Amino acid sequence: MKTIKDVFVGYKKGLDKVYDANELGAITLLTVSEICNVSKAKIKAFPEDEISSEQVEKLKSILDELKTGKPIQYILGKTEFYGLPFNVNPSVLIPRPETEELVEWVIGSVSSRQLVVGSLLDIGTGSGCIAISLKKNLPNFKVSAIDISADALQTATSNAKFNELDIEFIEDDILSPKSHISHLTSHIIISNPPYVTLHDKTQMHNNVTDFEPHTALFVPENDPLIFYKAIADYAAAHLTQDGLLFFEINESYGKETVELLADKGFKNIELRKDMSGRDRMIKAQFKLP
Ligand code: GLN
Repeated sequence: MKTIKDVFVGYKKGLDKVYDANELGAITLLTVSEICNVSKAKIKAFPEDEISSEQVEKLKSILDELKTGKPIQYILGKTEFYGLPFNVNPSVLIPRPETEELVEWVIGSVSSRQLVVGSLLDIGTGSGCIAISLKKNLPNFKVSAIDISADALQTATSNAKFNELDIEFIEDDILSPKSHISHLTSHIIISNPPYVTLHDKTQMHNNVTDFEPHTALFVPENDPLIFYKAIADYAAAHLTQDGLLFFEINESYGKETVELLADKGFKNIELRKDMSGRDRMIKAQFKLP
């Protein structure tokens, strides 16, 4: 491996059983860009450019890790979400593009209500990607976020600090909350809770199931909406009068999750698809103003 082009050939050969051609190209481009500190455009324009032997060594060792199925975001220790930088490690789920669409929905809803101040709670914050991107875009909101995992909260706290945003992080379990979150009243409650069933697991890529935190992903097969029930109950008691609840959901349970919210007294329930056309998010209001 001497030129950028050689790296692409080596990565293609080494990873063709792990990734499809599109993903492989994107991962190689990202890795070369990070390690050689050159833009993706420059890499594409000048594939014959030579790289140093130190960079060649780094790229080789990353290739070995990639071959095990480890996601590139964990290898590099970072990713981007909603245009902001995030540190990631195996204690947190890697932020997904679908979740950016949910964040966009929240920001749009707040703007259309002309709500400039308020309070917001993110349940199961993981890397902090939802709470942090919302605080960045709704700076006058008081943002709090909870997670059951102390390790995840440590990552989220460092991400908030890195992005210079003030967020209150709380360690708690929404399935049996201690008193920590009972004092909060929120204008907006948002959550991307675990929602993957064992059935879904069989269809998933091993670089998700072997590397990402199972507590952030999986739910019991016999109670796939366990977190939605608990969060809806919490929201019913802790949302302000005209507060909004936002969920990311399992695409197979759109109808069931809408019904669950209707049964619990929520109104104006809206189900939206993600960019792949899958039922992916819900907005609901608890009481009409
Ligand atoms: N969307 C994630 C995935 O496909 C799952 C996120 C979650 O369980 N909340 O891996």
